[in-house]
Amino acid sequence: MEIKFERFHLQSDSRSPRGGSEIISVPTEVRIDPLTKRRSRIITWALPPQDKFDFSKMIQESKKCIFCPENVLQKTPQFLNEISSEGRISVGEAIGFPNLYPAGTYGSVVVLCSDHFLNLNQLTSEIYEEALSVSVEIIRKTMGFDPDARFWQISQNYLLPGGSSILHPHLQVIGDPIPTNEMGWLLDNSTSYYKENGTLYWNDLIQIEKGLGKRYISSIGKVHWFVSFAPIGFNEVCGSVEGHGSVTTLGQGEIASLAKGIVSTLKYYYEKNLNSFNFSIYSIVGETSYQLLIRIISRTPFQSNYLNDCTSFEVLQSELTANIIPEELCREIRPYFP
Ligand SMILES: [Zn+2]
Repeated sequence: MEIKFERFHLQSDSRSPRGGSEIISVPTEVRIDPLTKRRSRIITWALPPQDKFDFSKMIQESKKCIFCPENVLQKTPQFLNEISSEGRISVGEAIGFPNLYPAGTYGSVVVLCSDHFLNLNQLTSEIYEEALSVSVEIIRKTMGFDPDARFWQISQNYLLPGGSSILHPHLQVIGDPIPTNEMGWLLDNSTSYYKENGTLYWNDLIQIEKGLGKRYISSIGKVHWFVSFAPIGFNEVCGSVEGHGSVTTLGQGEIASLAKGIVSTLKYYYEKNLNSFNFSIYSIVGETSYQLLIRIISRTPFQSNYLNDCTSFEVLQSELTANIIPEELCREIRPYFP
C-alpha cells in the first residue's frame, strides 16, 4: 500500500442561456482518500454565505439555559462515584458532567464557558484548552473504571446546522467498547498500512504533505495541521498529533496546540461569514498503528432561508462533498495559523 493521490476530473458542458454557440463548462473533481479509499466530490461553484447573521433574538429567547451558570450545577446530572466522587469535573470555566441524553455507553457534555453565546471569533484558545482538559480528564477517569471503553470521540456540534439544539457552547465526549464507522475505517486502514510498510501512515502522509507544500498548513508543537486531499466536509481542516494515538497520553502542551489550531480555523470561518461547524477528535487507546486525528468542518451557516448541506449525495449515495478546492483552502487559511 502506498500513499497515492488519485483524482478524476469531470466536466459538464451546456449551451449558454443567452443562446448562440457559447459553451459553459463546469468542472467537478472526484478524489480518492489515500487511506480509506473513500470518494469525495469537490464542487467548484459553491454559493457564498450571506452576511453575518444577527443572533440577538435567538440569544434573548434562549438565555438562562441549562448550561448557564445559574443552572449548570443544579440541573445537570453527576458522574457515578466510581468515575468521579466530585460529581462533575471542572477546569477554569469549563464544566463536564454526564449527558442526560447519551448516545452510547459513556456520554458526557462539557460546557465551555459561562457565556450563553459566543461568535466564532470570540472562542479563545484558553476556552478550548480548559474544555479539552476536562474532556481528557473525563476519559482518563472513565477508563480507570472501565478500561474496555477505548474508543472515544471529543466532538462539537455548533449551532443548529451543526446539530445542536442548545446555543450555549459545549462539547460532547462519547466513549464505547466498539468504534464508530469512521474510527473503524481509520484504524483498519492504518493497521493494514503499518503491516505492509512497517511505518505509520500518518507520519508518512505528513512528510509527503510537507514536501508538496500544497495542503500542509503549519505545525503547532506536536500537532501537524493540514487540509485533506479528499475532504469529507466543507472547509475541512485536520490535525494529527505526533506520538499519540489517544488523548489519554496528551500533555498540556499538546492540548494547548490542539486548542490553538481549532481557534485559528474558527477565526477563518468567521471571516468567511460561516457560523456553524463540527469537529471530532478520534481517540483510540492501545493501537500503535494509529495516530490521533482531529477533523474540523464548517456547516452551511445559520441564516434566513437556511439551506441544508446534506443532499442525496451525502445521505443516500454516501458520496461526501466539499465546496472549496483543498489547495485553495490551505492557501487561504495559512495566515490564520501561528
Ligand atoms: Zn446558556
